[in-house]
Amino acid sequence: HYDVVIVGAGHGGAQAAIALRTAKFAGSIAMIGDEPEPPYERPPLSKDYLSGDKPFERILIRPPAFWGERDVVMRLGRRVVRVDPQAHTVTTGDGETIGYGQLIWATGGSPRRLSCPGHDLAGVHGVRTRADVDRMIAELPGVTRVAVIGGGYIGLEAAAVLAKFGKQVTVLEALPRVLARVAGEPLSRFYEAEHRAHGVDVRLGVTVACIEEADGRTCGVTLADGETVPAEMVIVGIGIVPAVEPLLDAGAAGGNGVDVDAQCRTSLADVFAIGDCATHANAFADGARIRLESVQNANDQATVVAKTIAGTPVDYRAVPWFWSNQYDLRLQTVGLSTGYDGIVVRGDMASRSVSLIYLREGRVIALDCVNATRDYVQGRALVLAGAVIDPAQLADTAVPLKEMIA
Ligand code: FAD
Repeated sequence: HYDVVIVGAGHGGAQAAIALRTAKFAGSIAMIGDEPEPPYERPPLSKDYLSGDKPFERILIRPPAFWGERDVVMRLGRRVVRVDPQAHTVTTGDGETIGYGQLIWATGGSPRRLSCPGHDLAGVHGVRTRADVDRMIAELPGVTRVAVIGGGYIGLEAAAVLAKFGKQVTVLEALPRVLARVAGEPLSRFYEAEHRAHGVDVRLGVTVACIEEADGRTCGVTLADGETVPAEMVIVGIGIVPAVEPLLDAGAAGGNGVDVDAQCRTSLADVFAIGDCATHANAFADGARIRLESVQNANDQATVVAKTIAGTPVDYRAVPWFWSNQYDLRLQTVGLSTGYDGIVVRGDMASRSVSLIYLREGRVIALDCVNATRDYVQGRALVLAGAVIDPAQLADTAVPLKEMIA
């Protein structure tokens, strides 16, 4: 039995343990994670870890000795398969039952799989764990052509790294533009042009029919119109399925994720959920109930839970932020652009340093800043204030954003 059991040793789980000790929580803490590694940063998996620029040791969230020093018991390589909310216990796949005072569910999700024939062939990869990327890296020497299914951030980042490696990369996106769910059209068009300039074949509005096989491995992706795109490696970046089954089976409210309140409590007593798997009402999405898949959200929700458990409850109200690195482009976003009804382009796309400012009913709700860190930093205050500023002024790069609000 532990006072706090954390399930999931990723970003949210690690930060929950760190924040509990920072808040002077003196009770016992155990962290159960199904990956063999201690908590590591996931964003580099499609960036500097895939490219080889950062070895694994440099993406650990804390050095391995840290957890013991903070009296956090690590149970790695074990998956929690059952939660008994009455008995206050969790059970792992290898049959161990562990009691909890409070449970923090921080399990993220697993990559959504294709449902078409060939989806599980060798050479078809999701990108979620170190093991996924190590498998890709091991196969790369035998690969000349890569098909990336899904033009979201993870797919595009992987495409950028593999194009730099000299692979022939094709991006297959079902919607009429890349990044369609997360960004405005000018940003989509900008990234499509960048990838094409680096030799990536970006195909829009295409549907995957099946993955082709040769000698037990993938050899291509066949589209609905019958065309086959040859590929010895297929990367699937089409979102995640939140890992909440044991919680929902135990009766927690939810569906696509587990529902939490402002302090990240689930509907089960003494059970919290944080990070990618937690469906919450987000103040920056007009109160809509969403899941956010970002390091910011996992860390900030972890801190909210730690404070609540340590006896100083706070509500979750953090400003969303996110980043993506592709080629020499550093995208930084703040706020949530969902539901925008206007976009101001600040700067010149051709200069490769530009910010998109998203408006809803005249208010600034989000910024996507490409190689424009100053706008990103200063734009945060505009998002927090929901500032109403004349679009012509927002577009004027001669005036710093910070001078636009009192
Ligand atoms: P995770 O970090 O995924 O941790 C969950 C852990 O729980 C995993 O180890 C999982 O295996 C484990 N687990 C699941 N079920 C169980 C179970 N039943 N029992 C035990 N353990 C379990 N975000 C950004 O902000 N910026 C970026 O640039 C960015 N890039 C990304 C690139 C990639 C390739 C990926 C995959 C993600 C990226 N993200 C990025 C998203 C970010 O990594 C996630 O939002 C973040 O990791 C969420 O933290 P989490 O704790 O909710 O989940």
